[in-house]
Amino acid sequence: MLDRLYLSLPKEALNKERFEMPKAESFIQGTKTIIKNFSAILKAINRDDEQSKRHLVKFFARETATAANIEENKIILGGKFSDFQVNDLLKSYITQFVLCPVCKKPDSHVIEKLGVKILKCEACGAISSIKGL
Ligand SMILES: [Zn+2]
Repeated sequence: MLDRLYLSLPKEALNKERFEMPKAESFIQGTKTIIKNFSAILKAINRDDEQSKRHLVKFFARETATAANIEENKIILGGKFSDFQVNDLLKSYITQFVLCPVCKKPDSHVIEKLGVKILKCEACGAISSIKGL
């Protein structure tokens, strides 16, 4: 019964209607925090390129006020942060720089026009300004 109901739904309704926030997997090693699934996070938010990689690391460095570095697909933060703090930051990044403020979909990319960075949404076509960074 449920199966049949599921199959009869229009295709669009099943097509990534709800964006699932990727979860950062981090652990503390000595005085550092290592986010080990950096690559998976970037893939999940369609930001798997060098520029986006650096942007996300820069964001983490600024928000944690530590030196953040990329090392073999991991982010190394120069301080101790709980899993909760790391995920909170990731969520804030995605909300600010990935999700379209109009339709809340993650099908966006950052473009630069006259030195100003803007977020262009592929799903609804909205163009939004990005604060900071
Ligand atoms: Zn949109």
